[in-house]
Amino acid sequence: DYQVHIIGGGLAGSEAAWQLANAGVRVKLSEMRGAELKDGGDMTPAHHTDGLAELVCSNSFRSDDANSNAVGLLHQEMRALGSIIMAQGDAHKVPAGSALAVDREHFSAGVTAALAAHPNIAIVRERVDQLPAEGLTIVATGPLTAPALADSIGNATGKDSLAFFDAIAPIVHRDSIDMEKAWLQSRWNKVGPGGDGKDYINCPLTKDQYLAFHQGLLDSEKTEFKEWENVPYFEGCMPIEVMAARGVDTLRYGPMKGVGLDDPRTATPGFPNGRWPYACVQLRQDNASGTLWNMVGFQTKLKHAEQVRLFRTIPGLENAEFARLGGLHRNTFIRSPELLDPTLRLKARPHIRFAGQVTGCEGYVESAAIGLLAGRFAAAEILGHELTPPPVETALGALLGHITVGADAETYQPMNINFGLMPPIEGRTKKADRKLMYTTRARAALQPWLQTL
Ligand code: FAD
Repeated sequence: DYQVHIIGGGLAGSEAAWQLANAGVRVKLSEMRGAELKDGGDMTPAHHTDGLAELVCSNSFRSDDANSNAVGLLHQEMRALGSIIMAQGDAHKVPAGSALAVDREHFSAGVTAALAAHPNIAIVRERVDQLPAEGLTIVATGPLTAPALADSIGNATGKDSLAFFDAIAPIVHRDSIDMEKAWLQSRWNKVGPGGDGKDYINCPLTKDQYLAFHQGLLDSEKTEFKEWENVPYFEGCMPIEVMAARGVDTLRYGPMKGVGLDDPRTATPGFPNGRWPYACVQLRQDNASGTLWNMVGFQTKLKHAEQVRLFRTIPGLENAEFARLGGLHRNTFIRSPELLDPTLRLKARPHIRFAGQVTGCEGYVESAAIGLLAGRFAAAEILGHELTPPPVETALGALLGHITVGADAETYQPMNINFGLMPPIEGRTKKADRKLMYTTRARAALQPWLQTL
């Protein structure tokens, strides 16, 4: 006897259950860990316990600074909405400077006990293999969704809209790119629909710079792939260091090719538009507001510090600030910007919502935040309330907006919360003041929205 079925008792599913239950809605929460194997129970390759909201890796919720950090702001907004993940995180925090880190066992036990004690929540230890054909459902099965259910999701979304691992190219804040060295141009000046032939930012390399960069790729430290991550590469997702190892020119004929790109700073009377560079790194706009740009074809498994060091040797990126660095992991997620409506419903089957990392957000806090919103939206639907998405100036609204409308569906890759997902601050501002301006504006925007709840 339940009104909403939540599948997956991780960060997102637990938060969604809590929000629904507190709104007076009866919830069934299905979690496969802890079930008897004969009844279809299972473990993921990363979890170790049967506790709800288990933290599979680090024990940190990252910065708790709500004035100058986007994830800290998200913490603050979630607390204002009665988040169980934040409440238990705060209750079980361990010293970690300005970060919020938690005792993982006590945290998970605290979430499990709170949910188990709630009269509106029934926790059922079972693995779900099919998307329910009817009844309000929230799918929150995470990056390691069990295979049978992943198949069922793939049937509902179309196989091309479900990814099994992410191949992430670094994303750069637009205002940190040196446009004195880089320039805007599409290869061969090709004009796309609604475009002007200037869709890409180009960073040129001379022969010496390219050879040094190539050697740097070969020499730099790579992260090890866990055995369960051992998936074959698709040609289109091959890490740049793997390409570099194939030969000195492989990248120069692949993602770093310079043909069709006229560097205006090399213009001569014979070449009034400029010459093609020996090699070139292209960046493509990554979000609707144009604050974030991804390095095209630059998916990589280099260690994060190595990426920063090496990519800052690229002309134009000397002072690049990265919204996220490259990586390659097992990760089940759907192409949300195309598939979901603004309240996280699957457009093709609106009785089903998605929440957590399976929507393409990334991280414990972000996953819980999207679980929180999915729970609130489902509760509003059942109770017949109107609930509009939070304003895009808030961390919650920015993250939700990125997932459901803002991101480019074709190149969609998982994303952490960051200020680049929010509308840019207008006018000239000192860089040092900008973060506080974002967070102050977010707090002002959240208040009227909270009043609508
Ligand atoms: P999860 O927390 O994974 O919860 C999903 C739940 O669904 C699980 O309990 C699972 O058992 C259950 N489930 C799956 N399929 C079924 C099914 N068919 N039926 C019933 N139940 C099912 N994030 C960070 O912030 N910091 C980190 O250091 C970090 N390290 C990570 C390391 C690894 C190896 C991985 C895989 C992820 C890591 N992440 C990290 C990401 C983080 O795990 C996720 O962002 C977060 O846990 C996602 O929350 P979720 O609720 O969407 O999924």
